[in-house]
Amino acid sequence: MIKSDTSTTGLLGPHTLVFDVINDEVVNQRPGAYALGYTDNRGRFLVTYVGSAMADLKSKLKQHIGTARQFKFRHYATDQAAFEKECELFHRFLPVGNFLHPERPKMSNWSCPHCQLQARRA
Ligand SMILES: [Zn+2]
Repeated sequence: MIKSDTSTTGLLGPHTLVFDVINDEVVNQRPGAYALGYTDNRGRFLVTYVGSAMADLKSKLKQHIGTARQFKFRHYATDQAAFEKECELFHRFLPVGNFLHPERPKMSNWSCPHCQLQARRA
C-alpha cells in the first residue's frame, strides 16, 4: 500500500515533474530532499519514491523525469540536512520505489537519525 503525504512532510508542492517546472521551482546548485508520486482522486499526494541530492537537487530531479507524475521538494542548507530528511521520508512512507535504506555519501560518517542502524555505506 502506498502511503499518502500530509502537510507534515515539510516539503513544497506537489509540482508536475517536467523540465520547465523544475527549472522554475528549484534553485540551482543547492542540496535538498524530495518525494516523487501522484495525486489521487481524493486529492492526496501518494509517495512512490524519496531521495535527496548533495549539492544539486535540480539536476537530480531532472534525472527522474518520466518516472513519476509529480514531485515535492525542499532545499536544505547542508548536504547532511538533506540526507537526514531523506531518511525521515524513507522511514515515514516506505515508498514502493525505495528498496533499500538511503545511502550515506562516501567519506561521511553520518548515521540515520530515525533507526538504530547506521545508514548503508555508499
Ligand atoms: Zn534509518
